[in-house]
Amino acid sequence: MKEVPNILWLEEIRKEDIPSVGGKGASLGEMASIGLPVPKAFVVTAQAFRRFLVETGIEKKIFASYEKLDVENNEALEKAASGAKSMVLKAKMPAILKDEIRKAYKKMSAEDLIVAVRSSATAEDLPDASFAGQQETYLNIKGESALLTAVQMCWASLYGARAIYYRAKQGFDDHSVNIAVVVQQLVHSEKAGVMFTSHPITGEPLTIIEGSWGLGEAVVSGTVSPDKYIFDQRSQKVMDVLVSNKKVEIIADGDHGTKVVEVTGARQDTRVLSDAEIDKLAMYGKIAEDHYGIPQDVEWSIVGGTIFILQSRPITTIGNRKEAKGMSAEKQSATIILKGQGAAPGIASGRVVIIRDVKDAGSVKEGDILVTRMTNPDMVPAMRKVAAIVTDEGGMTCHAAIVSRELGTPAVVGTKTATHILKTGQVVTVDGEMGLIYEGEIPHAAPVAAATPQLGGPGPAAIITATSVKVNVSIPEAAVRAAATGADGVGLLRIEHLILGLNKTPGWFIANNKEEDFVRELHDGIKIVLDAFPGKPVWVRTLDAPTDEFRNMMGGENEPHEHNPMLGWRGIRRDLQSQDQFRLQVESFKRLWKEGYDNLGIMFPMVSHPDQFVAAKALMKAFGVDVENVTLGIMIEIPSSAIMIEEFIRCGIKFASFGTNDLVQYTLAIDRNNENVADMYQPQHPAVLHLIHNAIQVCREYNVECSICGQAGSDPKMAMWLVEHGISSISANIDAIAKIRQAVARTEKRIILEAARNRDAE
Ligand code: PEP
Ligand code: MG
Repeated sequence: MKEVPNILWLEEIRKEDIPSVGGKGASLGEMASIGLPVPKAFVVTAQAFRRFLVETGIEKKIFASYEKLDVENNEALEKAASGAKSMVLKAKMPAILKDEIRKAYKKMSAEDLIVAVRSSATAEDLPDASFAGQQETYLNIKGESALLTAVQMCWASLYGARAIYYRAKQGFDDHSVNIAVVVQQLVHSEKAGVMFTSHPITGEPLTIIEGSWGLGEAVVSGTVSPDKYIFDQRSQKVMDVLVSNKKVEIIADGDHGTKVVEVTGARQDTRVLSDAEIDKLAMYGKIAEDHYGIPQDVEWSIVGGTIFILQSRPITTIGNRKEAKGMSAEKQSATIILKGQGAAPGIASGRVVIIRDVKDAGSVKEGDILVTRMTNPDMVPAMRKVAAIVTDEGGMTCHAAIVSRELGTPAVVGTKTATHILKTGQVVTVDGEMGLIYEGEIPHAAPVAAATPQLGGPGPAAIITATSVKVNVSIPEAAVRAAATGADGVGLLRIEHLILGLNKTPGWFIANNKEEDFVRELHDGIKIVLDAFPGKPVWVRTLDAPTDEFRNMMGGENEPHEHNPMLGWRGIRRDLQSQDQFRLQVESFKRLWKEGYDNLGIMFPMVSHPDQFVAAKALMKAFGVDVENVTLGIMIEIPSSAIMIEEFIRCGIKFASFGTNDLVQYTLAIDRNNENVADMYQPQHPAVLHLIHNAIQVCREYNVECSICGQAGSDPKMAMWLVEHGISSISANIDAIAKIRQAVARTEKRIILEAARNRDAE
């Protein structure tokens, strides 16, 4: 095999070269090859970095220094990181390598060219693992010696604490994570910014461009409020122009580095881009998107009327990109005081308010950080107000996680000690993506809820998939945001949140002759969701709240005390015994069907035997439902229902949906809310996959729609696996729809491509 050289020029690089040049380098090379105006550049390859590690003899020492590291131990992590970084910085770069870098630099221009030196980790910018902001970039570097130092600093940044932590958490093997360095002519941009080639949430063909004066860092880091332009790819027209007040710009600082300066006079409010420039940028964006096959997040820059494309990578989410970078600038000085599971993305700072009893939830104010042992449905009003949520207990599928994601509020769950370590009044910053709590307020870009459609509003999704991509909803106020994703329907509406938010148990309504209130609340809440999804299926799940969730409400005193509520009186088993409770739910469904909402389907939770489905259907019939002409299905949350799926089908279910949150817990005997066993909670455990695979096959045989609405459906890797195994639909969280749709589309295309190739080969 040909040895990869230390230096590769952009023109020699293709996207397959990621192992040598990293995501950034490969993407630039690929873009140059399709004719996009990329500034000239060369890449110091990952192999060069390896040679450096080996020849200087530091490779083994570095890995040994953090082989047994517990990344959760902050002090140890910081120590290991700074040790590894300093080994890289102090090592003497081999003379041959130095020489090659110097020669390449000279070849760029006879005079010392000003360059940007960017890290390009070989696992960076991949669709499934955006490492954006984890490794460093050095701008405005001039001269050989500054360049050599900058290259070495990029290499060292591979061993930053945050980068090591992130890789460990994502399961990357550190021995095989490499780093390349892109050395690129620095465009002294007069104006610059970013562009989403399609709407980042809904996937609509709307190109969204943000631009400001000076270098693009000002926009990327959130230092400035940029102008916003929306270009409609269908009509090929500029649809919207929002000119902002641009107070500062980032410019080159002499020969080294950059500085932030004030934008003076009328320039502050002057529109940055002309229509012609927008047209051209959108065209380049389209070329990149068509070439890569998925929407791109592009950095651009303009100088003297010439457009340059600096970077392109698949869109993750708006919030993540800005927030990750905004945080990274401050990360050196920030102190992590607590860690947990990142349950709802986004970053927010605020004043801690510890809630030990729901009765104290009234003291929570707008913008506070709510800290509690575990949230309950009766805390939802307080959860609506706060900037972020932190809990001691729980995992990715606990109540706090589900509701926070839907509210678009950053959340960290399962910290074990938040209510002890944090103090009311203390100011902290919560990173809901990484699961970290920092001391004090860390400046970051304005919080952008990942779930909030930014611009353009509702509309059809640009990516059409054969597998339906639906959305989960728990609170009616999220319905419009959910619909704006362009989802193909609602694969799960959890109605317990409609009722529990009223702070009275269903039993209370019945005992106090308030049945009509109960039916009306349910009817009105479900109707809001149905109205947001006209003509699309909406599967409403009958009540499924464990008894402990009812405890704090009026009527909660009559709930039984159960040793293990997760295995107790919940779901369909309770409704079949508390028939009045079931009757009232059915009454609300009947009214909606009567009003013409024939897209309403009903799903029964926690079924373990086909007899339960038969009994529920018989009860509905007794309550006056024309059961043969409505859509009734089940959740597969208990291994028995996965195993007996054929019998269920024979009993007439119209669909089945995997509730993996529970299916995982009941298959592996891992309490989904118990942070002590959270790392053993594995949706991709072979036994879980085995159950899912078999049930899908049987559903396919009988032509019964088979779906997923558990949290695992919001994981792109799982979505790919499910599509490969023949699932008919996937219902994901609002914030995950765009990436799930991309994962589904990509997998479907691959399946078609492979089938075509196999045909050709025959
Ligand atoms: C599930 O169990 O996967 C599910 C979607 O239901 P819940 O999370 O409400 O138990
Ligand atoms: Mg469940």
